[in-house]
Amino acid sequence: MKCDADVLVIGGGQAALRSAIEARELGASVIIVTKGKAGGGGSSVISDGVHSAIFSQGDSPESFYEDMMRGGKGINDSCLVRILAEECTVRVKELSEKFGIETYNEKVVATPGHSYPRRCYADNGTGKTVTLKMREYAEQIGITCIENTWIVDLIRNDRIEGAIGIHDHDWVQIFAGSTILATGGIGGLYEQSDNPIDVSGEGIGIAWRHGAFLQDMEFIQFYPYRLIEPINIDLFTKIFAKGAKMLNAAGERFMEAFPRKEMETRDVLCYEMYKQGLVYLDLGEVNPTELNASSPKLAGLMKKGYKGPLRIEPERSRQIDPDENLVRSGSSDRRNDQVQGPERQLSGPERRHQVRHGHGASAFYARSVSDGVGKYRAR
Ligand SMILES: Cc1cc2nc3c(=O)[nH]c(=O)nc-3n(C[C@H](O)[C@H](O)[C@H](O)COP(=O)(O)OP(=O)(O)OC[C@H]3O[C@@H](n4cnc5c(N)ncnc54)[C@H](O)[C@@H]3O)c2cc1C
Repeated sequence: MKCDADVLVIGGGQAALRSAIEARELGASVIIVTKGKAGGGGSSVISDGVHSAIFSQGDSPESFYEDMMRGGKGINDSCLVRILAEECTVRVKELSEKFGIETYNEKVVATPGHSYPRRCYADNGTGKTVTLKMREYAEQIGITCIENTWIVDLIRNDRIEGAIGIHDHDWVQIFAGSTILATGGIGGLYEQSDNPIDVSGEGIGIAWRHGAFLQDMEFIQFYPYRLIEPINIDLFTKIFAKGAKMLNAAGERFMEAFPRKEMETRDVLCYEMYKQGLVYLDLGEVNPTELNASSPKLAGLMKKGYKGPLRIEPERSRQIDPDENLVRSGSSDRRNDQVQGPERQLSGPERRHQVRHGHGASAFYARSVSDGVGKYRAR
């Protein structure tokens, strides 16, 4: 199969969809090509479709900016962080105004690293609530989606002219004036990850082969709130704001000395958990109604009188999910002097193409997807 468009977007998650929509609305013909389904990828499995925005009294873009820079240990790209802090609220509003996705604001609990409550979530389960609506919109405005197609490389002569892939055992060639890589993180490379299988870092390899500068690839983020005994489930962070504690084998609350206790940023918490060896969950001070709202499965178990250990396995949680569960690194155009042109057009929270990357040393809860729907990135 051969086809062409002004803009080719590789990937089917939020970053890809938003980039494609922006290009189409600027008048370009656009093809999305994705290994999985358009509206799938890591963006589709997020619980509640969580984003960040400024809506709390006293909060401001400046405060969000400072939180992100502090959380990222100051090595974030301050320019990208500034844009995100200033633009996220408009973009989250756009989810409802443009795409018809209803969102709700968490008014009480500030999630780890945030000084104010900023969590906005789409009702009803996972990130699919957001991505499927975006996909619907994309198709309505005339974007072509080619699915189940694995892009293996870019077509390059003097410049990037599109991409080549495999669909149903046949080669596919897609020619385009501009090519955007929005292929997500690298979770699929890990034995244990909460990323879908189609998110496996190939876009990063492709970018690298064509001269992109890969930055901070060592920054892999792990999800620390994974219960493994007596049941294997992800706990919601909020439960730790409602009285849940983490204890070590000696029964000590090892996060006691930290200002935000178990609500510290994930990099800090994971490291402390790792040092303990064994980590247990203490629900003694959690109100059963809160527990039920946060984790009905666990609440059901406790209601039945479960008295055994509630174990969070640090070693295991270290292995789960490299994508905020996230890879906070990216491709950069620092080698613009060496490589020019459309191969610089990398997109998504994982692709910090413009200068450096916005996450720095710690990706904040609920900011990656706000990043992904950012119009600045799409442009
Ligand atoms: C369980 C979970 C919960 C999360 N919760 C949150 C949260 O609450 N808040 C938050 O901000 N972030 C969260 N994240 C992180 C967030 O999901 C990601 O940062 C975001 O979805 C990345 O979006 P993306 O569009 O860049 O990539 P993705 O959504 O991962 O999309 C990548 C796309 O690229 C395609 N692709 C990959 N390789 C190829 C190839 N070779 N050829 C063709 N297509 C290819 C895939 O099929 C996929 O469609 C969570 C992640 C997970 C896994």
